[in-house]
Amino acid sequence: MQTEDFSFRLIQWYEQNKRSLPWRNIQNPYHIWLSEVILQQTRVSQGLPYYLRFVEAFPTVADMARAEEKDVLRLWQGLGYYSRARNMHQSSKMVMDKFGGEFPNNYKEILTLKGVGSYTAAAIASFAFNEAVAVVDGNVFRVLARIFGVEEDIASGKGQKIFNELANELLPKNQSAVYNQAIMEFGATHCKPAAPDCPTCIFRDNCFAFAHKKQNVLPIKIKKLKIKYRNFTYLVFGYQQKIMMKMRGEGDIWQGLYDFVMLENLEKTQENEALKDKLQNTSLLAMQIGQEILPNLTVKGVSQTYKHVLTHQQITAQFIYLQIDSPELAAQILAENSLALYTPNEVNELPKPILIVNYLKTL
Ligand code: SF4
Repeated sequence: MQTEDFSFRLIQWYEQNKRSLPWRNIQNPYHIWLSEVILQQTRVSQGLPYYLRFVEAFPTVADMARAEEKDVLRLWQGLGYYSRARNMHQSSKMVMDKFGGEFPNNYKEILTLKGVGSYTAAAIASFAFNEAVAVVDGNVFRVLARIFGVEEDIASGKGQKIFNELANELLPKNQSAVYNQAIMEFGATHCKPAAPDCPTCIFRDNCFAFAHKKQNVLPIKIKKLKIKYRNFTYLVFGYQQKIMMKMRGEGDIWQGLYDFVMLENLEKTQENEALKDKLQNTSLLAMQIGQEILPNLTVKGVSQTYKHVLTHQQITAQFIYLQIDSPELAAQILAENSLALYTPNEVNELPKPILIVNYLKTL
């Protein structure tokens, strides 16, 4: 199949089949950036309300730059991958400080923004400024691998180079915005990962995967993901009608989000049951928070065990609600653990991991 023929057919398909989405047909690089960051690893149906909320809360990049990080994180709550929101916030400040408030208008400069990789930079540069640079995301890998029979591992350096070169070769230089959107849309809605619609496909007669029945094999991705198992015990201290929470620091998941005093006990999930038994009779708790303060606490509840799955981590968590009666002890626990007291309404406003949100719903 000729290069021109491929892009022409693809764009034609796109014009007839594209979904109507609020970030389509816009040239505002900030809004395009928002949509791209939100949609990374997120389905359109899930990301759409977030996009609309962000545009409403922060209509311009200057509005986001002025916002507090915790407000950005609160709006992001539930999307996961919170470093993306933090990077976006920091980059909005970069746009104000380094680029004088004007969103950078070319691939090279866009790439200097924090958290912006080659895919996002290409998307913004081509959609907003029609720069001739090809996007290569999961959809593009899939479509190119299947149609052109590229059997290289998409996670390898060699594979990335091959796909990049092919994608840029196929890109019609004067139609980069529409072409890039077309190939992504085709991958997202027609040549889908699990159930590509081959019988009605415009490329059926030219498709390597269809001819060789390799739709389920291509693209090739060799997984090297190592899952870490973690076991959290949260101590939820209540005092009067408030609970104690703190912001998570650097160097671990959920930086900038709020949770409780957290003890990380065991790495192996098999031992959870034994741990649970110990927690029920509070002996482990006594060991962890000190025998001397235990008599001044009332254990109000031990939660069910929660399982929370992240890309590289599987977390098992349990919450122990401890009511404090003495003001001295409350002050001591607050100070020693960098905690602050929050009313239920204030807790609601804080950005929190979904694991914490789910637990709070049970209180
Ligand atoms: S024929 Fe099937 S595998 Fe090939 S491009 Fe079309 S939908 Fe994808």
